[in-house]
Amino acid sequence: MNIKNYINGEFKNPILDNWIDNYNPSNGIIYGQIPDSTKEDVENAYSAAKSAFSSWSQTTLEERSRILIKISELLEANLQRFAEAESKDNGKPVSLAKAVDIPRAASNFRFFGNAITQFASESHESVGQQAVNYTLRQPIGVVGCISPWNLPLYLFTWKIAPALAAGNCVVAKPSEVTPMTAYLLGEICNEAGLPKGVLNIVHGLGGSTGQAIVEHPNIKAISFTGGTATGAHIAKVAAPMFKKLSLELGGKNPNIIFADCDYEDMLNTTVRSSFANQGQICLCGSRIFVEQSIYDKFKSDFVNKVKALKVGHPSQKDTNIGALVSKPHLEKVKEYIQIAKDENGTILCGGNEVTITNYENGYYLEPTVIEVQNDNCRVNQEEIFGPVVTIMPFSNEDQVLQMANKVKYGLSATLWTNDLKRTMRMSNQLQAGIVWVNTWMMRDLRTPFGGVKASGVGREGGFEALRFFTEAKNVCIKY
Ligand code: NAD
Repeated sequence: MNIKNYINGEFKNPILDNWIDNYNPSNGIIYGQIPDSTKEDVENAYSAAKSAFSSWSQTTLEERSRILIKISELLEANLQRFAEAESKDNGKPVSLAKAVDIPRAASNFRFFGNAITQFASESHESVGQQAVNYTLRQPIGVVGCISPWNLPLYLFTWKIAPALAAGNCVVAKPSEVTPMTAYLLGEICNEAGLPKGVLNIVHGLGGSTGQAIVEHPNIKAISFTGGTATGAHIAKVAAPMFKKLSLELGGKNPNIIFADCDYEDMLNTTVRSSFANQGQICLCGSRIFVEQSIYDKFKSDFVNKVKALKVGHPSQKDTNIGALVSKPHLEKVKEYIQIAKDENGTILCGGNEVTITNYENGYYLEPTVIEVQNDNCRVNQEEIFGPVVTIMPFSNEDQVLQMANKVKYGLSATLWTNDLKRTMRMSNQLQAGIVWVNTWMMRDLRTPFGGVKASGVGREGGFEALRFFTEAKNVCIKY
């Protein structure tokens, strides 16, 4: 199936008629093609967005809200179709797409459809100066949204929904590896009555189509989620044009387990935080540190649970671990398993490719647990972004804090303990944008979301996202 660009409410072939193959990770088969869009396609998307802006930015908040909530409802009504499409494109279990990805995409539209009606700005009376200042929060204009392949529609809509709610028009590009649900979203937007040109979706490679969005002189803000190297490159290109930038980048998150935690809850959640979505979530706790006194017990219990996870075809109901997203990504993850061996890490379980009958060319890998000798090794420092975690013991709070913070990333951290004082001390000192205590990936869309250090700049979520997608203007009136 060939997918098309969505420009000015219409589905269009790329101008140069160049196409990229789209693979199904569960069987390695090319099942369609996507536009290899050029600068000219991006220019058409920009023109459509620009033409739509004056009307959309003046559309009442109630009307914008109504349309966004309608999109949300239509996504919910099409749950099965979208979940199957997401799974086919990405390799994740259909059950996961159905429980997490698509419901969350719907929530993104509903949340920001509601949030915009509550978004307020300040006024300051300048006492003694007979003046009043008020702040206008005006939409930026045409903005660019670029998203990765791991949670395709979930992260695509996490950017688009607040951008639209705030009154901007959008040129968006999903990952070329997982374009399908973004394509289907166009249909839903038309059905929901989103005016033509308000949202435009251009497909293609990062280095050409994505680059054209970032380089476009009149696309004034870029919201990007993806790898740290790409984020650094985008920052370089955008800086001389003084674009507003939100960068959500890689992670290498610590999962710190103290002996006083609720053990069973911790164990079950740790299996999930290690391997959900084949470990391809930027928030996965990929470095597990366990207090020495329970280390041996944890090691044995954890490995037994991981061995029981079923690697299988994404459409099968009992599959826990589906296929990795692509052949190159599978190769990259396997390379890290080799690096772990070369660094004298011990593979406690997993480490091998899995062959599934009838789907022999799919990209399947066993969930892998590596015991490392020290926290400086490459598998403990570099983002692998696959079904691979490291474990090692620690002896005290200071030591684990130091190890937890000793990576270039700072996205999230998980802490398992029932000691309140320790929770407070460690939450204050962990270098991360999010600290989960006795839970993982529990999300409230009102909270600020983002990372520190090489995990990014800026915050998404709640009013933070609406602030990003608006310019604050101070008006000072003397009376
Ligand atoms: P990636 O950086 O390769 O690509 C992300 C997107 O950027 C894709 O749409 C790609 O086409 C585009 N792109 C690539 N080069 C570009 C360029 N020069 N100009 C403009 N756009 C360009 O990342 P990926 O492999 O798709 O995703 C995996 C990475 O994303 C991991 O590092 C992961 O941690 C990160 N991630 C972060 C978060 C977060 O919220 N912090 C969430 C999910 C994933």
